[in-house]
Amino acid sequence: MSTQVLPARENQPTYRGRFAPSPTGPLHFGSLVAALGSWLRARAEGGRWLVRIEDIDPPRERAGASQQILHTLHAFGLVADEAPVYQSARHALYREALQRLIDSGAAFHCTCTRSDLAPSGLHRGSCKRTGGRGAWRLRVPDCQWQFQDAVVGRYQQESSSVGDFVIWRADDLPAYQLAVVVDDDLQGISEVVRGGDLLDSTPRQIFLQQKLQLATPDYLHLPLALDRDGHKLSKSTASLPIDAEDPLPALRAALRFLGQPDPPAHPRIAPLLDAAVAAFDLSAIPQLAAMPPALATG
Ligand code: GLU
Repeated sequence: MSTQVLPARENQPTYRGRFAPSPTGPLHFGSLVAALGSWLRARAEGGRWLVRIEDIDPPRERAGASQQILHTLHAFGLVADEAPVYQSARHALYREALQRLIDSGAAFHCTCTRSDLAPSGLHRGSCKRTGGRGAWRLRVPDCQWQFQDAVVGRYQQESSSVGDFVIWRADDLPAYQLAVVVDDDLQGISEVVRGGDLLDSTPRQIFLQQKLQLATPDYLHLPLALDRDGHKLSKSTASLPIDAEDPLPALRAALRFLGQPDPPAHPRIAPLLDAAVAAFDLSAIPQLAAMPPALATG
Protein backbone atom coordinates (compact mmCIF):
# COMPACT_ATOMS: atom_id res chain seq x y z
CA MET A 1 0.00 0.00 0.00
CA SER A 2 1.45 3.37 -0.94
CA THR A 3 1.47 6.19 1.53
CA GLN A 4 0.47 9.60 0.33
CA VAL A 5 2.47 12.39 1.87
CA LEU A 6 0.32 15.46 2.15
CA PRO A 7 1.87 18.89 1.96
CA ALA A 8 2.07 20.37 5.43
CA ARG A 9 -0.70 22.81 6.41
CA GLU A 10 -2.15 23.02 2.93
CA ASN A 11 -4.55 25.95 2.61
CA GLN A 12 -3.49 27.09 6.06
CA PRO A 13 -0.88 29.70 5.49
CA THR A 14 1.25 30.16 8.56
CA TYR A 15 2.03 33.78 7.77
CA ARG A 16 -0.57 36.17 9.20
CA GLY A 17 -0.02 39.88 8.95
CA ARG A 18 -2.16 42.85 9.87
CA PHE A 19 -2.76 46.57 9.50
CA ALA A 20 -4.05 48.20 12.68
CA PRO A 21 -5.12 51.81 12.12
CA SER A 22 -6.49 54.02 14.89
CA PRO A 23 -9.56 55.86 13.55
CA THR A 24 -8.26 59.31 14.41
CA GLY A 25 -8.72 60.65 10.87
CA PRO A 26 -8.53 59.69 7.19
CA LEU A 27 -5.61 57.62 5.92
CA HIS A 28 -2.61 59.72 4.97
CA PHE A 29 0.50 58.79 3.03
CA GLY A 30 2.27 57.40 6.12
CA SER A 31 -0.57 55.02 6.96
CA LEU A 32 -0.87 53.99 3.32
CA VAL A 33 2.80 52.97 3.48
CA ALA A 34 2.08 50.82 6.57
CA ALA A 35 -1.03 49.30 4.96
CA LEU A 36 0.69 48.59 1.65
CA GLY A 37 3.92 47.34 3.26
CA SER A 38 2.08 44.88 5.51
CA TRP A 39 -0.20 43.76 2.66
CA LEU A 40 2.70 43.22 0.22
CA ARG A 41 4.69 41.25 2.76
CA ALA A 42 1.70 39.02 3.59
CA ARG A 43 0.89 38.42 -0.08
CA ALA A 44 4.55 37.78 -1.00
CA GLU A 45 4.66 35.19 1.82
CA GLY A 46 1.46 33.55 0.56
CA GLY A 47 -0.17 34.48 3.86
CA ARG A 48 -3.27 36.23 5.12
CA TRP A 49 -3.70 39.92 5.81
CA LEU A 50 -6.07 41.24 8.46
CA VAL A 51 -7.33 44.67 9.41
CA ARG A 52 -7.88 45.66 13.03
CA ILE A 53 -9.50 48.96 13.89
CA GLU A 54 -7.82 50.23 17.05
CA ASP A 55 -10.73 52.25 18.41
CA ILE A 56 -9.93 52.05 22.11
CA ASP A 57 -9.28 55.74 22.62
CA PRO A 58 -12.65 57.52 22.12
CA PRO A 59 -11.29 60.99 23.00
CA ARG A 60 -8.91 60.82 19.99
CA GLU A 61 -11.35 59.27 17.52
CA ARG A 62 -13.00 61.06 14.65
CA ALA A 63 -16.63 60.15 13.80
CA GLY A 64 -16.82 58.14 10.58
CA ALA A 65 -13.04 57.60 10.36
CA SER A 66 -13.25 53.77 10.61
CA GLN A 67 -15.62 53.54 7.66
CA GLN A 68 -13.56 56.04 5.72
CA ILE A 69 -10.35 54.06 6.33
CA LEU A 70 -11.98 50.79 5.24
CA HIS A 71 -13.39 52.50 2.15
CA THR A 72 -9.97 53.93 1.25
CA LEU A 73 -8.23 50.57 1.75
CA HIS A 74 -10.79 48.98 -0.53
CA ALA A 75 -10.27 51.66 -3.18
CA PHE A 76 -6.54 50.91 -3.03
CA GLY A 77 -7.20 47.18 -3.56
CA LEU A 78 -6.03 46.32 -0.04
CA VAL A 79 -8.80 43.98 1.02
CA ALA A 80 -8.55 41.96 4.22
CA ASP A 81 -8.96 38.20 4.21
CA GLU A 82 -11.17 38.26 7.31
CA ALA A 83 -13.79 40.66 8.66
CA PRO A 84 -12.18 43.63 10.42
CA VAL A 85 -11.82 43.36 14.18
CA TYR A 86 -12.82 46.36 16.33
CA GLN A 87 -10.94 46.77 19.58
CA SER A 88 -13.87 48.67 21.12
CA ALA A 89 -15.79 45.36 21.18
CA ARG A 90 -13.03 43.47 22.96
CA HIS A 91 -12.65 45.20 26.34
CA ALA A 92 -13.48 41.97 28.20
CA LEU A 93 -10.45 40.29 26.62
CA TYR A 94 -8.12 43.12 27.65
CA ARG A 95 -9.60 43.13 31.16
CA GLU A 96 -8.96 39.42 31.44
CA ALA A 97 -5.30 39.94 30.45
CA LEU A 98 -5.03 42.76 33.00
CA GLN A 99 -6.42 40.47 35.68
CA ARG A 100 -3.82 37.82 34.86
CA LEU A 101 -1.07 40.41 35.24
CA ILE A 102 -2.53 41.57 38.56
CA ASP A 103 -2.88 38.00 39.82
CA SER A 104 0.72 37.15 38.93
CA GLY A 105 1.97 40.28 40.69
CA ALA A 106 3.36 41.76 37.43
CA ALA A 107 0.93 44.72 37.48
CA PHE A 108 0.34 47.27 40.24
CA HIS A 109 -2.19 50.01 40.84
CA CYS A 110 -0.75 53.50 40.70
CA THR A 111 -2.27 56.86 41.58
CA CYS A 112 0.86 58.94 40.96
CA THR A 113 0.05 62.17 39.16
CA ARG A 114 1.96 63.76 36.31
CA SER A 115 3.64 66.13 38.73
CA ASP A 116 4.66 63.21 40.96
CA LEU A 117 6.55 61.81 37.98
CA ALA A 118 8.09 65.09 36.80
CA PRO A 119 10.47 65.89 35.29
CA SER A 120 11.09 62.58 33.43
CA GLY A 121 7.43 61.49 33.36
CA LEU A 122 8.69 57.97 34.05
CA HIS A 123 7.56 55.73 36.88
CA ARG A 124 10.39 53.66 38.32
CA GLY A 125 10.00 51.61 41.47
CA SER A 126 7.75 52.72 44.28
CA CYS A 127 4.70 54.99 44.02
CA LYS A 128 4.75 58.53 45.39
CA ARG A 129 1.20 58.33 46.74
CA THR A 130 -1.57 55.86 47.58
CA GLY A 131 -5.36 55.89 47.37
CA GLY A 132 -7.72 57.30 44.77
CA ARG A 133 -8.48 56.44 41.18
CA GLY A 134 -5.47 55.40 39.21
CA ALA A 135 -3.89 53.47 36.41
CA TRP A 136 -2.42 49.98 36.29
CA ARG A 137 1.27 49.75 35.47
CA LEU A 138 3.59 46.91 34.68
CA ARG A 139 6.60 46.49 36.97
CA VAL A 140 9.71 46.83 34.80
CA PRO A 141 13.15 45.78 36.09
CA ASP A 142 16.24 47.69 34.96
CA CYS A 143 17.69 45.76 32.05
CA GLN A 144 18.52 46.03 28.39
CA TRP A 145 15.87 44.86 25.94
CA GLN A 146 16.70 43.83 22.41
CA PHE A 147 15.04 42.21 19.46
CA GLN A 148 15.79 41.56 15.80
CA ASP A 149 13.79 43.56 13.25
CA ALA A 150 13.52 42.37 9.64
CA VAL A 151 14.39 45.84 8.27
CA VAL A 152 16.05 47.71 11.11
CA GLY A 153 18.22 44.83 12.32
CA ARG A 154 19.07 44.51 16.01
CA TYR A 155 17.28 47.11 18.11
CA GLN A 156 18.25 47.75 21.73
CA GLN A 157 16.54 49.77 24.42
CA GLU A 158 17.29 50.39 28.08
CA SER A 159 14.15 49.50 30.02
CA SER A 160 14.90 52.46 32.31
CA SER A 161 14.03 54.79 29.40
CA VAL A 162 10.47 53.47 29.59
CA GLY A 163 9.97 52.67 33.28
CA ASP A 164 6.90 51.00 34.77
CA PHE A 165 4.54 51.66 31.88
CA VAL A 166 0.74 52.00 31.92
CA ILE A 167 -1.27 49.01 30.75
CA TRP A 168 -4.68 50.23 31.96
CA ARG A 169 -5.42 53.94 31.99
CA ALA A 170 -6.78 55.97 34.87
CA ASP A 171 -9.86 56.78 32.74
CA ASP A 172 -10.59 53.02 32.80
CA LEU A 173 -9.55 52.33 29.20
CA PRO A 174 -7.07 49.65 28.16
CA ALA A 175 -3.71 51.09 27.10
CA TYR A 176 -2.53 50.55 23.53
CA GLN A 177 0.42 48.36 24.66
CA LEU A 178 -1.86 45.84 26.36
CA ALA A 179 -4.58 45.74 23.69
CA VAL A 180 -2.11 45.31 20.82
CA VAL A 181 -0.37 42.39 22.51
CA VAL A 182 -3.64 40.62 23.34
CA ASP A 183 -4.96 41.06 19.79
CA ASP A 184 -1.77 40.15 17.94
CA ASP A 185 -1.86 36.91 19.91
CA LEU A 186 -5.58 36.16 19.55
CA GLN A 187 -5.48 36.93 15.83
CA GLY A 188 -2.49 34.61 15.41
CA ILE A 189 -0.31 37.33 13.90
CA SER A 190 3.02 35.80 12.88
CA GLU A 191 4.70 39.05 11.87
CA VAL A 192 3.88 42.63 12.81
CA VAL A 193 4.65 45.03 9.94
CA ARG A 194 4.09 48.68 10.85
CA GLY A 195 5.57 52.17 10.84
CA GLY A 196 8.94 52.84 12.41
CA ASP A 197 7.33 55.20 14.97
CA LEU A 198 6.35 52.06 16.89
CA LEU A 199 9.85 50.58 16.94
CA ASP A 200 10.43 51.82 20.48
CA SER A 201 7.11 50.32 21.68
CA THR A 202 8.15 46.85 20.55
CA PRO A 203 10.40 45.93 23.51
CA ARG A 204 7.52 46.81 25.86
CA GLN A 205 5.20 44.60 23.82
CA ILE A 206 7.64 41.70 23.88
CA PHE A 207 8.05 42.14 27.64
CA LEU A 208 4.26 42.06 28.04
CA GLN A 209 4.02 38.93 25.86
CA GLN A 210 6.51 37.26 28.18
CA LYS A 211 4.54 38.29 31.28
CA LEU A 212 1.36 36.92 29.69
CA GLN A 213 3.17 33.82 28.42
CA LEU A 214 2.27 34.56 24.82
CA ALA A 215 4.34 33.80 21.72
CA THR A 216 6.31 36.71 20.27
CA PRO A 217 5.67 37.40 16.58
CA ASP A 218 8.37 38.62 14.20
CA TYR A 219 8.64 42.38 13.71
CA LEU A 220 9.29 44.52 10.66
CA HIS A 221 9.29 48.30 10.99
CA LEU A 222 8.89 50.35 7.85
CA PRO A 223 10.54 53.70 7.19
CA LEU A 224 8.56 56.59 8.55
CA ALA A 225 7.14 59.22 6.26
CA LEU A 226 7.93 62.73 7.46
CA ASP A 227 6.53 66.10 6.51
CA ARG A 228 8.62 69.01 5.23
CA ASP A 229 9.52 69.98 8.80
CA GLY A 230 10.71 66.49 9.65
CA HIS A 231 7.64 65.59 11.71
CA LYS A 232 5.83 62.28 11.46
CA LEU A 233 2.71 62.46 9.30
CA SER A 234 -0.30 61.85 11.52
CA LYS A 235 -3.92 61.08 10.89
CA SER A 236 -5.07 63.36 13.67
CA THR A 237 -3.50 66.41 12.03
CA ALA A 238 -4.92 65.16 8.70
CA SER A 239 -1.52 65.34 6.99
CA LEU A 240 -1.75 64.65 3.29
CA PRO A 241 -5.01 62.68 3.20
CA ILE A 242 -4.85 60.35 0.24
CA ASP A 243 -7.43 60.40 -2.50
CA ALA A 244 -9.58 57.27 -2.59
CA GLU A 245 -10.97 58.41 -5.95
CA ASP A 246 -7.52 58.46 -7.57
CA PRO A 247 -5.44 55.74 -5.89
CA LEU A 248 -2.83 55.00 -8.58
CA PRO A 249 -0.47 57.97 -8.04
CA ALA A 250 -0.37 57.47 -4.24
CA LEU A 251 0.06 53.72 -4.67
CA ARG A 252 3.04 54.24 -6.98
CA ALA A 253 4.52 56.82 -4.62
CA ALA A 254 4.13 54.39 -1.67
CA LEU A 255 5.84 51.59 -3.63
CA ARG A 256 8.71 53.93 -4.47
CA PHE A 257 8.90 55.03 -0.85
CA LEU A 258 9.27 51.36 0.14
CA GLY A 259 12.18 51.04 -2.29
CA GLN A 260 10.23 48.69 -4.54
CA PRO A 261 10.77 48.52 -8.29
CA ASP A 262 8.41 50.70 -10.30
CA PRO A 263 5.70 48.36 -11.60
CA PRO A 264 4.82 48.58 -15.31
CA ALA A 265 2.37 51.36 -16.14
CA HIS A 266 -0.92 49.63 -15.46
CA PRO A 267 -4.05 51.73 -15.63
CA ARG A 268 -5.73 49.48 -13.06
CA ILE A 269 -5.04 48.70 -9.42
CA ALA A 270 -5.26 44.88 -9.40
CA PRO A 271 -2.55 44.16 -12.03
CA LEU A 272 -0.34 46.86 -10.52
CA LEU A 273 -0.59 45.20 -7.10
CA ASP A 274 -0.03 41.73 -8.60
CA ALA A 275 3.16 43.02 -10.26
CA ALA A 276 4.26 44.61 -6.98
CA VAL A 277 3.77 41.33 -5.10
CA ALA A 278 5.71 39.39 -7.74
CA ALA A 279 8.58 41.90 -7.56
CA PHE A 280 8.47 42.41 -3.77
CA ASP A 281 11.98 42.84 -2.40
CA LEU A 282 12.32 42.98 1.38
CA SER A 283 16.01 43.92 1.19
CA ALA A 284 15.15 47.06 -0.83
CA ILE A 285 13.05 48.61 1.96
CA PRO A 286 15.05 51.55 3.29
CA GLN A 287 15.72 51.82 7.01
CA LEU A 288 15.54 55.53 7.49
CA ALA A 289 12.77 58.02 7.98
CA ALA A 290 12.24 59.94 4.78
CA MET A 291 10.01 62.38 3.00
CA PRO A 292 7.43 60.72 0.81
CA PRO A 293 8.32 61.13 -2.87
CA ALA A 294 5.12 63.07 -3.46
CA LEU A 295 6.31 65.67 -0.99
CA ALA A 296 9.97 65.57 -1.91
CA THR A 297 9.13 66.45 -5.49
CA GLY A 298 6.22 68.75 -4.64
N1 GLU B 1 -3.00 51.85 15.91
C1 GLU B 1 -1.64 52.28 15.68
C2 GLU B 1 -1.62 53.49 14.75
O1 GLU B 1 -2.58 53.73 14.04
C3 GLU B 1 -0.79 51.18 15.08
C4 GLU B 1 -0.60 50.06 16.01
C5 GLU B 1 0.26 48.92 15.51
O2 GLU B 1 0.41 48.73 14.29
O3 GLU B 1 0.74 48.19 16.36
O4 GLU B 1 -0.62 54.17 14.73
